[in-house]
Amino acid sequence: MLKKILIQPDYILAWENENFKLVSFGEIIIEGDEITYLGPRREHNRKKFSKTIKGDLVMPGFVNTHTHAAMTLFRGYADDMPLLEWLGEKIWPAEAKLKKDDIYWGSMLAICEMIKGGTTCFADMYFHMEEVARACTEAGIRASLAQGLIGTDKLKGSISLKKNENLVRNWHKAGEGRITVMLGPHAPYTCPPEFLQKIMKTAEKLEVPIHIHLAETRKEIEESLQTYGKTPIKFVDDLGLFEHNILAAHCVHLSREEIDILAEKKVAIAHNPGSNLKLGSGIAPLADLLEKELLVSLGTDGAASNNNLDMVEEMRLASLLPKGLKENATIAPAEIALKLATINGPKALFLDETVGPLKKGAKADLIVVQLKKPHLFPLHDVVAHLVYSAAASDVDLVMVNGKILMEKRELLTVDEEKILFETQKRATKLLAGLN
Ligand SMILES: [Zn+2]
Repeated sequence: MLKKILIQPDYILAWENENFKLVSFGEIIIEGDEITYLGPRREHNRKKFSKTIKGDLVMPGFVNTHTHAAMTLFRGYADDMPLLEWLGEKIWPAEAKLKKDDIYWGSMLAICEMIKGGTTCFADMYFHMEEVARACTEAGIRASLAQGLIGTDKLKGSISLKKNENLVRNWHKAGEGRITVMLGPHAPYTCPPEFLQKIMKTAEKLEVPIHIHLAETRKEIEESLQTYGKTPIKFVDDLGLFEHNILAAHCVHLSREEIDILAEKKVAIAHNPGSNLKLGSGIAPLADLLEKELLVSLGTDGAASNNNLDMVEEMRLASLLPKGLKENATIAPAEIALKLATINGPKALFLDETVGPLKKGAKADLIVVQLKKPHLFPLHDVVAHLVYSAAASDVDLVMVNGKILMEKRELLTVDEEKILFETQKRATKLLAGLN
């Protein structure tokens, strides 16, 4: 018999008719990995349940659609530098020293931080991805993984594409279906056209989506114009990239015409406001993307350029930045910002539609948030509080696929103390000798 869990919180942020619906004093029943009931509270024989959970608010977990998990090892190592210098002088030399085990422990640290902040699913692009898959399987989090592909060296490019193919074969839909795989061409400026074409063919053959960095900095646009006579968006569109399922990270520098192309081709966007600000890359035109009804989700990017994986902070930035930029307080209201951080994520990762919303038949990926705190009092509007007042540390319980990963802020599937010890030891060793 399936293990049943009963949740009876003060509020449930359910999903109905493509909108959030706040249910007061309702309940959720979970059987296995699925929500089998969400509605008014009823009388029960408690013996029928293996566990009963109370709490203030149950809501969908956050979905971080763009990060490089193991980069937690470089958190605080290289700051206050522009992207291309930061990559060339600091990050790439440090990454060259990373071993398989470092990737495992760095990813575990990221997973710890994400679960503690209410993230139930993330999209990762890096290397030694089977180690990330292993960490996700052990921790119980949901993830969409891609091998970062750089094709400037032809041989190295084909070796890493092979690795990405193997990742699809060995890990796609593994871990009770929690792990999915994409192909991960790093960016148009690191992937020549023939290499991108090869990747597209592979994506078609394996029937998986593609995760790529696009139009992140002004310099990228200028260099693309010099090399190809086209902007990165036009360049990849002309190559046929947008005929595939694409998750495009950043999309900071876009013309009106390019926004129309992205909308028409249904490209999903991972908006990373924190990383874009910190690297001085710019501010993505979120107001225009929303106006054109693009599918926008939120990512933190890696912890070396953010410098945390805090989706609450990201959600607040996403809502506040366009208001200030356009001198218009009505842009990206709280409910929209919350959608970007939760419901839109699984869609942008091309996941099964049962992942994301809280409703009957959906996967049990949810978080319990404590509302009885001074910074969340008095309570008028739950959604406004989540976006404008809450902190990641208000998350009290995290469940993915029906399994509890954190309860009363204690991680249940991973050894937090050991992860902190291992990552400090490894980061110190890795960065010794580098400037
Ligand atoms: Zn990135």
